[in-house]
Amino acid sequence: CLLQLHVGFLVLLCGVLSRARPQFPRGPNFLQFVVNATELPSEDYYDYIIVGGGTAGCPLAATLSRSYRVLVLERGGVPYGRPNLMTQEGFLTTLMETDTFDSPAQAFTSEDGIPNARGRVLGGSSVINAGFYSRADEDFYQNSGFNWDLRVVNQSYQWVEGAIVFRPELRNWQSAVRDSLLEAGIDPYNGFNLDHVVGTKIGGSTFDSLGRRHSAVDLLSYAKASNIRVGIYASVERVLLASSSTSSESRQSAIGLVYRDQMGGYHHAMVREHGEVILCAGAIGSPQLLLLSGIGPRPYLASWGIPVAYHHPYVGEYLYDNPRNGISILPSVPLEHSLIQVVGITEMGAYIEASSNVIPFASSGSSAFAATSSSPLYLTVATL
Ligand SMILES: Cc1cc2nc3c(=O)[nH]c(=O)nc-3n(C[C@H](O)[C@H](O)[C@H](O)COP(=O)(O)OP(=O)(O)OC[C@H]3O[C@@H](n4cnc5c(N)ncnc54)[C@H](O)[C@@H]3O)c2cc1C
Repeated sequence: CLLQLHVGFLVLLCGVLSRARPQFPRGPNFLQFVVNATELPSEDYYDYIIVGGGTAGCPLAATLSRSYRVLVLERGGVPYGRPNLMTQEGFLTTLMETDTFDSPAQAFTSEDGIPNARGRVLGGSSVINAGFYSRADEDFYQNSGFNWDLRVVNQSYQWVEGAIVFRPELRNWQSAVRDSLLEAGIDPYNGFNLDHVVGTKIGGSTFDSLGRRHSAVDLLSYAKASNIRVGIYASVERVLLASSSTSSESRQSAIGLVYRDQMGGYHHAMVREHGEVILCAGAIGSPQLLLLSGIGPRPYLASWGIPVAYHHPYVGEYLYDNPRNGISILPSVPLEHSLIQVVGITEMGAYIEASSNVIPFASSGSSAFAATSSSPLYLTVATL
């Protein structure tokens, strides 16, 4: 899962990194609109209700709150106060220390048997990922079937990049990877570049020069505090639908949703007239919520006893693993900790990336092959 990168974090820069960055949202202004869902009313009305305070949900909520009353519901807690989430060094530990209920990384295994993880924390997977940042491939705009306004897209990139994207400083392992990619013919060399371009480049990182993580949560600092509520430990269970009929057709619209707080208490969040429910619960969470709300393939919904509100054959379908080959080596010289900074992109569409981590190898104490020791042995593992 280390290199699953590019998928949803594809938004962003080209030289605006020297602009003033917004205040990092840890202060009272930020916290005042983040509340435990137990403190939210049992029923309230909003213009926009966003499910999932993750990579997509936070910037969307911040933008909408400039003009509308917005509620964000996030099933996890806040990332602050958890050093492993906030530093490069904590990356692997976060992915290894998972539990069923509230670890910020939720482990899961795909139907093909591939172990993976997804975020369960304010900021979503941008708080547990490897921090590599890229603008989208041009092909994406051309083939998405959507008519993008590229002027707005580019402004959005700059908006994100100005806040949370940094130029990484290459040290020994990443420099060696860059030189090796060029030696292997992955050219041209594109230097530091946030565009998705064939060749070898240094990409953007959401880790700053001190190795501190920045994430989608930081983008909440753009929000208008008086217009936004962020409920944490709020698990959305179902979108509420109502029929509206015009003379020619009958339609279902989302009128609100039901969520549960940490204490098991139920709440209703409802949309005002012309309001919307927006699902930003991730590639798994969003279709899951549609299915729980009765939107999906009729036979599948029937097999779970879910009443069908709208038959749609593709909801929950066509989700695939993004395969990678990983080669890990134990180098003979110590290497720095590094996540993804350099990337080689080939004409055929392969991405070659590398990281280096210092990993504790603990002896079990009872092994016939290892000396008993209470302190682990720290080894550098470099991965391509
Ligand atoms: C280990 C790892 C490393 C990665 N590395 C990179 C990288 O270096 N670069 C890159 O570009 N991409 C990387 N990715 C991928 C990238 O992080 C994701 O594509 C992106 O974060 C997805 O954004 P999202 O908004 O769709 O979902 P998320 O950011 O996951 O947000 C979904 C949010 O919805 C919440 N949620 C879900 N269901 C509910 C519910 N029912 N009620 C309330 N809340 C709910 C979740 O808790 C979560 O916070 C990596 C991913 C992983 C797992």
